[in-house]
Amino acid sequence: MAGGAGFIGSHLCDRLLRDGWFVTSLDSFVTGSAANVGHLVGNPLFSMRVGDIRHPVDWNGDLILNLASPASPPAYQRERMLTLTTNAEGTRNLLELARQTGARFLQASTSEVYGDPEEHPQRETYPGRVNPIGPRSCYDEGKRYAEALVVAAVAEWGIDARIARIFNTYGPRMDLGDGRVVVAFIGCLIEGLPLPVFGDGSQTRSLCYIEDMVEGLVRLAAGPGLAGEVFNLGNPDERTILELAEAVQQAAGRRAAIEYQELPHDDPTRRCPDITKAMERLGWAPQVPLEEGLKHTWDWYLDQHARQ
Ligand code: NAD
Ligand code: UDP
Repeated sequence: MAGGAGFIGSHLCDRLLRDGWFVTSLDSFVTGSAANVGHLVGNPLFSMRVGDIRHPVDWNGDLILNLASPASPPAYQRERMLTLTTNAEGTRNLLELARQTGARFLQASTSEVYGDPEEHPQRETYPGRVNPIGPRSCYDEGKRYAEALVVAAVAEWGIDARIARIFNTYGPRMDLGDGRVVVAFIGCLIEGLPLPVFGDGSQTRSLCYIEDMVEGLVRLAAGPGLAGEVFNLGNPDERTILELAEAVQQAAGRRAAIEYQELPHDDPTRRCPDITKAMERLGWAPQVPLEEGLKHTWDWYLDQHARQ
């Protein structure tokens, strides 16, 4: 698994190991950390390699999961070239590996391929509305190019590759400082600071708890006859950012003031997945309500904080 020491990757490692797979994590730690998989060191089914998918990768196995890419807006905007080349050259290297070894391939794509969407909720058929030169373009266009690589590799090389368009996912082990909204709010509540709401907080996101996302990814990786297919994976429970700020405070049992800050350029106004295809073809739908997922997440960060 590329990106196995990141937030989603480390939870996916846990799950695959529980299911009895041998798992190799390949990660450069540009945004992830060894601590995310520290508890797996010593597990005979697990190995950890430090490396960068932008360089050719030597490995042999049945399944390649490509989760490697900076994912939070501040992280990818700090590392624009790295984000573009990771998704372009890195994905290409891993697809070559799938071609050589005959491994099945799963690409972690993103709802960002829809940009600031005019269709709502977004179906897989919606081609998107992305600004190719805006501050999010390194990520959005990188991921769009990676999707194009995947479908080209399926068509020309006959490999078995699938694409997951992941919508906002949250839970334990997100980097508390990476700026994504749930951890930004949790970090502020822990420190007793006001919650930074960008714009007027009326923009929406639909947040999926990590356990549900992992289940969706496993089903997509395991399902037969899905070569070249793309699936939205996310929770269609859409909330405004102000509603989310309230829900995080409820989960934490703490209150804070709201501090309104400038809305970043090209911040999508609405985002919500249509998951009909995943429900019908994978038998998958999220099970964890936002309030419950936020409570687990808050408890985990509070516990981490208490241990420091
Ligand atoms: P993350 O930053 O926690 O994990 C990404 C991992 O990839 C990190 O461990 C990082 O060190 C590694 N990585 C990055 N570039 C690399 C490279 N060139 N070579 C090797 N390793 C590299 O982010 P995440 O939230 O776990 O996201 C995982 C994947 O899911 C990403 O591809 C992301 O685009 C996608 N995704 C995530 C979300 C979300 O809400 N979490 C939403 C949409 C898509
Ligand atoms: N956001 C916010 N305060 C923060 C971080 C984010 O109001 O401290 C908003 C951001 O403007 C966006 C939404 O929350 O509308 C989700 O942001 P995030 O960076 O988590 O992910 P995105 O979906 O934008 O990639």
